[in-house]
Amino acid sequence: MSRLLFILIIVAFIFWLLKSKRREPPSTNHQTPAAQDMVRCSYCGVHLPRNEAILKGGKIYCCTAHSEGRQA
Ligand SMILES: [Zn+2]
Repeated sequence: MSRLLFILIIVAFIFWLLKSKRREPPSTNHQTPAAQDMVRCSYCGVHLPRNEAILKGGKIYCCTAHSEGRQA
Protein backbone atom coordinates (compact mmCIF):
# COMPACT_ATOMS: atom_id res chain seq x y z
CA MET A 1 0.00 0.00 0.00
CA SER A 2 2.82 2.39 0.84
CA ARG A 3 4.42 1.65 -2.56
CA LEU A 4 1.23 2.74 -4.37
CA LEU A 5 1.21 5.98 -2.39
CA PHE A 6 4.86 6.56 -3.33
CA ILE A 7 4.09 6.05 -7.06
CA LEU A 8 1.13 8.44 -6.78
CA ILE A 9 3.38 11.12 -5.25
CA ILE A 10 5.97 10.66 -8.03
CA VAL A 11 3.28 10.92 -10.75
CA ALA A 12 1.81 14.02 -9.09
CA PHE A 13 5.30 15.56 -8.90
CA ILE A 14 5.93 14.91 -12.64
CA PHE A 15 2.56 16.47 -13.53
CA TRP A 16 3.36 19.49 -11.35
CA LEU A 17 6.77 19.83 -13.04
CA LEU A 18 5.26 19.74 -16.54
CA LYS A 19 2.60 22.27 -15.55
CA SER A 20 5.10 24.72 -14.04
CA LYS A 21 7.34 24.43 -17.12
CA ARG A 22 4.49 25.28 -19.47
CA ARG A 23 3.68 28.42 -17.46
CA GLU A 24 7.03 30.05 -18.35
CA PRO A 25 6.55 33.12 -20.57
CA PRO A 26 8.26 33.10 -24.00
CA SER A 27 11.47 35.14 -24.12
CA THR A 28 11.20 35.94 -27.85
CA ASN A 29 9.76 39.43 -27.21
CA HIS A 30 13.15 40.76 -26.12
CA GLN A 31 14.40 43.36 -28.60
CA THR A 32 18.08 43.36 -29.47
CA PRO A 33 20.04 46.65 -29.86
CA ALA A 34 20.70 45.72 -33.52
CA ALA A 35 16.98 45.93 -34.24
CA GLN A 36 16.84 49.50 -32.91
CA ASP A 37 15.10 52.19 -34.91
CA MET A 38 17.56 54.21 -37.00
CA VAL A 39 17.01 57.87 -37.90
CA ARG A 40 18.81 60.30 -40.23
CA CYS A 41 20.25 63.71 -39.33
CA SER A 42 18.48 66.48 -41.28
CA TYR A 43 21.73 68.50 -41.46
CA CYS A 44 24.53 66.07 -42.41
CA GLY A 45 22.53 62.93 -43.26
CA VAL A 46 24.32 60.63 -40.81
CA HIS A 47 22.36 57.64 -39.48
CA LEU A 48 22.08 57.17 -35.73
CA PRO A 49 19.88 55.31 -33.18
CA ARG A 50 16.64 57.12 -32.31
CA ASN A 51 17.48 57.29 -28.59
CA GLU A 52 20.71 59.23 -29.42
CA ALA A 53 19.06 61.66 -31.83
CA ILE A 54 18.12 65.27 -31.04
CA LEU A 55 14.61 66.35 -32.02
CA LYS A 56 14.15 70.05 -32.78
CA GLY A 57 11.37 71.75 -34.74
CA GLY A 58 10.00 68.40 -35.92
CA LYS A 59 13.38 67.48 -37.46
CA ILE A 60 16.01 64.97 -36.34
CA TYR A 61 19.65 65.88 -35.77
CA CYS A 62 22.76 63.95 -34.72
CA CYS A 63 24.13 66.64 -32.36
CA THR A 64 23.20 69.98 -30.80
CA ALA A 65 25.48 71.87 -33.27
CA HIS A 66 23.54 70.51 -36.24
CA SER A 67 20.20 71.25 -34.54
CA GLU A 68 21.34 74.91 -34.38
CA GLY A 69 22.29 74.79 -38.07
CA ARG A 70 26.05 75.10 -37.67
CA GLN A 71 29.01 72.79 -38.32
CA ALA A 72 30.09 70.54 -35.44
ZN1 LIG B 1 24.38 65.88 -38.25
